[in-house]
Amino acid sequence: MSLSRRAFPLAVAAIFAISGSSLQAADKLKLLIIDGQNNHDWKAMTPPMKAALEATGRFTVDVATTPHQKTTGESWKAFMPEFSKYDVVLSNYNGEPWPERVQKALETYVADGGGLVVVHAANNAFEGWPAWNEMIGLGWRGPQFGDRVTIADSGKVVRTPKGEGPGSGHGPQHAYTVVTRDADHPVTKGMPASWMHAKDELYHGQRGPAKDMHILASAFSASEKGGTGTNEPMIWVIPYGKGRVFTTVMGHVGGGDITAIRCVGFQTVVARGSEWAATGKVTLPIPKNFPKDEVSLAPSETK
Ligand code: ZN
Repeated sequence: MSLSRRAFPLAVAAIFAISGSSLQAADKLKLLIIDGQNNHDWKAMTPPMKAALEATGRFTVDVATTPHQKTTGESWKAFMPEFSKYDVVLSNYNGEPWPERVQKALETYVADGGGLVVVHAANNAFEGWPAWNEMIGLGWRGPQFGDRVTIADSGKVVRTPKGEGPGSGHGPQHAYTVVTRDADHPVTKGMPASWMHAKDELYHGQRGPAKDMHILASAFSASEKGGTGTNEPMIWVIPYGKGRVFTTVMGHVGGGDITAIRCVGFQTVVARGSEWAATGKVTLPIPKNFPKDEVSLAPSETK
């Protein structure tokens, strides 16, 4: 990572803070989406996510696409995203392990202060990559893989040891209520105490080291809807070295159906989460059409 590149916006921010002005448009954050393999419809998912992030005015977005599955030969050798050029990296990838040099480059990037955002099935990836498991905290894994983390109705975080309780899964898709668990974190500050997310998968039984994991929001996984009868984490953050990792397990896209990622709540969470992962602060406002009691979908032109 280029320290000079990261230091510059901080210096600018400090100057403007002193003068009382806000950051200029030229100070857009550089965000890199990684896709290319997924058990989801990543080709339908990346463009509307990119458009929604760019529509905030806060980001410029590039996309790095990996080789296809079972590619042999030179393609993987050419895959080496320049992480250090970016303020934040967003993974929309769930596929074959990256070459070790790419894994090491991402580890170094985040450890040195880079931001990482993990959306939906991106947390299914890389079971055999210890640093990745540390960064995501919880992934789509079997019950033997690691601890499970849920939230009691009181708000208390409950750890279930590995081997006990269910592994990862989800029931049929449905719209569900997301409950804010930390109203003071920069990402969730100002969001309703609870809000209705559009039809999506509700992940349960995620497993992992969950070290230093801080949950920002949860959803109740109802038994009658194929769930676990408890509050499952939906949005969380984890420090990694000097960097910040932001995860949301919401955002299923399959068969071209992008309803879940048209949710204004989801789009706001990803944009503010990305800004926070990049800078540690959030300046993006919560939009007026942010959902509360009912689902709120972004206009179709922005998908
Ligand atoms: Zn899914």
